[in-house]
Amino acid sequence: MKFQHARETVIEQLRSARCSLASEVVPLSESLGRVLAEPIHADRDFPPFPRATRDGFAVRSADLVSLPARLRVIGQARAGTEFSGTVGIAECVEIMTGASVPSGADAVVMVEYTSERDGWVEVNRAVAPGENVVPQGSEGRQGDLVLPVGRRIRYGEVAMLAAVGKQTVSAYRKPRVAILPTGDEVVELGVTPGPFQIRNSNSYSLQAQVASAQAIPLPLGIAPDREDRLREMIAEGLRSDLLLLSGGVSMGKFDLVEKVLADFQAEFFFDGVAIQPGKPLVFGRAQGTFFFGLPGNPLSTMVTFELFARPALQLLSGEPDAPLLFLRARLGKDVRRKPGLTAFLPALLEGSYSDPVVSPVEWKGSGDIASLNRANCYLVIPEETEEIKAGEWVSVLPR
Ligand code: AMP
Ligand code: MG
Repeated sequence: MKFQHARETVIEQLRSARCSLASEVVPLSESLGRVLAEPIHADRDFPPFPRATRDGFAVRSADLVSLPARLRVIGQARAGTEFSGTVGIAECVEIMTGASVPSGADAVVMVEYTSERDGWVEVNRAVAPGENVVPQGSEGRQGDLVLPVGRRIRYGEVAMLAAVGKQTVSAYRKPRVAILPTGDEVVELGVTPGPFQIRNSNSYSLQAQVASAQAIPLPLGIAPDREDRLREMIAEGLRSDLLLLSGGVSMGKFDLVEKVLADFQAEFFFDGVAIQPGKPLVFGRAQGTFFFGLPGNPLSTMVTFELFARPALQLLSGEPDAPLLFLRARLGKDVRRKPGLTAFLPALLEGSYSDPVVSPVEWKGSGDIASLNRANCYLVIPEETEEIKAGEWVSVLPR
């Protein structure tokens, strides 16, 4: 299956399953990364009064038609208090940033364009009506929806929640994600690996990726390439909100994951995607739980998580969309390869915002964890592309 089609399949399946998690009340200070389970409305107008955006003098703009203008200072408006009078013809009020512009005034002239002496101010620059003033309610009216259900809380949302006085918010509970590495050669950290054994890095990288997706990782330990034990551990994994397996999905004699999943009456939506790395990726559902059979090679595991499992988790977490955001950059050196797969090659993005340049790092294939750690992104090569010349614009997926 092609990359784009596979992604759409994952997104459609998760959307139509309408998995909805329970909600819980979370203090604002712990809400970062959570997904809102309640709509947030403005509790008052924003701003709640006509707000001065400069230090200076609140004036009637019509008084500044002929310059310099001499205005009488009738009072002071400080942030947090109100000047209760009205600004009349040829009058003004000294005002600070964040204060309420008094009635009668329709603009603020910046202090830089004035000189004040003995209760009078001379103004050397005209202002348009409304200049340096944000009208009451212009950013939002009391009762307006300011954050919808399903919004991931990042720092901007935290600012909005604080501004409307939410000390606690209702958020969906975090999905629980079982992580099941498979392979007879795979051993736990803390064990000295035999000469032909491999340390279990996938479980740890997956835990990190799951946690960074604001979900709860549940590492299950290593399943051997043996049907009976694999069956027991898959049964346990299917009791969580999502099951991530690693390894055992290729064409080898001991790649048993699909066979054992089939014994659970699993529905398979695909069992291969035209991508590099990560081609043997499996996606399906068994006993109401979605699962991914991620290929065991560490880069394949990590890349397929980012491309497929992360968006699945976003939807499972209550977010409405799961877009992949790409950057654009110029290619730093020619790339040639055999076409047929959409490639995500470890690459280094450098340069300034006006001249971003990306070059693939040297890598020895999908087992090469070291190459990933010399990279800060993936260079995306479209399926049909055979050659890209240095200087051409390409897509980049940040990591
Ligand atoms: P497989 O997909 O099971 O054929 O495994 C592909 C490659 O990934 C093999 O070289 C495995 O040794 C390696 N591999 C599988 N599982 C893990 C793991 N949990 N951690 C690190 N490498 C692994
Ligand atoms: Mg294996």
